[in-house]
Amino acid sequence: MTMPLERYSRQMLLPGWGREGQERLRSKTAVVVGCGALGSHIASHLARAGVGRLVLADRDFVEWHNLPRQALYAEADAAEGAPKAVAAARRLRQINTQVEIEERVVDVNADTVEELIAGADVVFDGADNFEVRYLVNEACVKQGIPWTYGGVLGTYGLMAAIVPGETPCLRCLLGPMPPPGAVPTCETAGILGTVVAVIAALEVTEGFKLLLGLKDELLRSLVMVDVWKGDLERVEVQKGTAGCPVCDEGRYELLEAELGSAAVVLCGRTAVQITPRPARRLDLASLAGRLAEVGPVSASEYLLRLEVEGVQLTVFADGRTIVKGTDDPARARALFARYVGS
Ligand SMILES: [Zn+2]
Repeated sequence: MTMPLERYSRQMLLPGWGREGQERLRSKTAVVVGCGALGSHIASHLARAGVGRLVLADRDFVEWHNLPRQALYAEADAAEGAPKAVAAARRLRQINTQVEIEERVVDVNADTVEELIAGADVVFDGADNFEVRYLVNEACVKQGIPWTYGGVLGTYGLMAAIVPGETPCLRCLLGPMPPPGAVPTCETAGILGTVVAVIAALEVTEGFKLLLGLKDELLRSLVMVDVWKGDLERVEVQKGTAGCPVCDEGRYELLEAELGSAAVVLCGRTAVQITPRPARRLDLASLAGRLAEVGPVSASEYLLRLEVEGVQLTVFADGRTIVKGTDDPARARALFARYVGS
């Protein structure tokens, strides 16, 4: 059967693309880490353009305050509280049935990141925090996989394509990972949907060059955009000679960190995420049965929701739990222990 390429005819007219490029794109795997604002736009472009296989990873579920900029979601997804990876995959399958789409409802951390990106041709950063980005950087450098970094805040954004061994890595570009609380977040500085679209478009454009084998066309720059002021600045970056712990010395501190059970306050919300380690499979239906007396509870294949003590617990099948309605990790841990079990 010949591949129906007609739908891609307009992009195939572009220099360096053609039928050959389109077929090459179809043989490639892209992994999108985070399906929030950036990840939504990135995944949409990749699916529409006809990438062969698209892996969507996200730990969270759709909420109403996501809708102004998270382009893949609709009101019904927020009303349902659907996991973002599931809602995104559902939508993208309606857009392009030629793409193999794989949804992963998963927290991207040192336990999960290496398996997640293995086999990817390009990894796209749709994350909303530096911990995940620095972790993705280490994993991509270790596995020699190119990736695109994108970050947005307010009306401002940054983008760089990183090719291990050829360009500076994220650690080279931005220095050590900023400690938690040291940089403003979308919660304190806000976020404009239009800058998200611009940075996502730049990430995917660099990604296309990598996927099509047009590496000479890469910008090899850190691109800075302020959509409100209309500024776009490009600073060329070159790999230094030595000294980066990640790409020169091969020290993967975040990947190799000893992990205990973690309680993390989530960016942009009054919520704490509890990640029990080791991960375990929960039988959500029987847990829902046990919690029926405690408060309003509902369960699906992917998650369970419980309203109790003025908070909402969302429990995923791997035991990971988001406690909404508090920003106190100790209280969140206590609630987790009480209702899900420590
Ligand atoms: Zn480096």
